[in-house]
Amino acid sequence: MRDNHQIANIDFVKQTNSAVVYKLIDQQGPISRIQISELSQLAPASVTKITRNLLARGLIKEVAQQESTGGRKATSIIVESKAFHSILVHLGTKQMTLAIMNLSSELLKKEILDLPDCQSAVEMEQFLIAHLARFIEKNQRKNAALIAIGITVPGFVDVKTNCIQYLPHLSLSEPWDLANHLAEYFQLMTFIGHDVRSLALAEHYFGATKDCYDSLLLRIHRGVGAGIVINHEIFLGYKNNVGEIGHIQVDPLGKRCLCGNVGCLETVVSNEAIEEKMLGLLEEGYKSKWISLESHDIEAICNAVNKHDIVAVNLIEHVGTQIGRVLAMSVNMFNPEKIVISGEITQAQNVLFSAIHRTLDNLALPAFVKNTPLVVSELQNEDVIGAFALIKQALLDGRLLQHLLSE
Ligand SMILES: [Zn+2]
Repeated sequence: MRDNHQIANIDFVKQTNSAVVYKLIDQQGPISRIQISELSQLAPASVTKITRNLLARGLIKEVAQQESTGGRKATSIIVESKAFHSILVHLGTKQMTLAIMNLSSELLKKEILDLPDCQSAVEMEQFLIAHLARFIEKNQRKNAALIAIGITVPGFVDVKTNCIQYLPHLSLSEPWDLANHLAEYFQLMTFIGHDVRSLALAEHYFGATKDCYDSLLLRIHRGVGAGIVINHEIFLGYKNNVGEIGHIQVDPLGKRCLCGNVGCLETVVSNEAIEEKMLGLLEEGYKSKWISLESHDIEAICNAVNKHDIVAVNLIEHVGTQIGRVLAMSVNMFNPEKIVISGEITQAQNVLFSAIHRTLDNLALPAFVKNTPLVVSELQNEDVIGAFALIKQALLDGRLLQHLLSE
């Protein structure tokens, strides 16, 4: 008699094999069954069985035939992406973004809402569910199926329980089981993750680090955080959260950070920190042709940098140097194949990147730096593409795929 453990193993093998086949079709389609069998090392009969199930569920489709190596025509397969939609949520500190994407990561709808001043997770959850229900009702098309919800938050998430452990803008009396509550309410599998870590995964699936095993993404926006991809997977660690390089101290006499310490990288290079610094300089009497007390946001500052404005250039050089110091430590520690910078500040790429390069050259191991390109993120829809990456991950590793096949 088989015990539960063996049954679980058989299910796991089924899930893994289906995932291997789906992943090959997704990444290399159009592809024939024979090629899938060769590349996956699965027996042709297994491939036929798995593709039959995937076809029956509409997850893949057959397309025009291609010549096989033996001269016979072989039917090719690609994944079906338009007929499946996913719901994406980014629960930010001040705003919430709701979106719908199809499986080609094509954005179909997006709505940004200001968050109310919620005092508790319960209140926030009620607000989120009410607006999400309305958003789905208004925008979901009949000819496509909703398959999952992806949600990202700027806080710590426990991967084992799916609970939010910490958010910077809402004090939680206990871990918040938001993802499971959404799954129950909307009857959809729900995946949750840290926003910057998920963004690094999205960059690996769809952006600048597609060709890398290991990479590091630094996101500079309201806060500063990083995501590390190791061997094609986002590195989360046993304790779930890795990459808080925005809280490495760069100025021992600096400003108080949200985390309680002083002079963290975030207090010097976040958009708000840069804008505040510029405001202070203007109030001190520094003159700029392009920036004023009324117009000194990050876009205006980057624009001024690109017009060679001295004050703006000096400020972004200072910012680049501080980023470079923290990146130098990270490069020495992880030796990534590529470093990606994401955020509005990359509009001043020329000045920013030369300051970062200069600092990396001075502070990081020369052999590591020499082989590590520094690039700008290639992603669009940065607010929600991370949530989509979580869904994509669950399709490729079989968790969501198996669920869809068993429905
Ligand atoms: Zn800090």
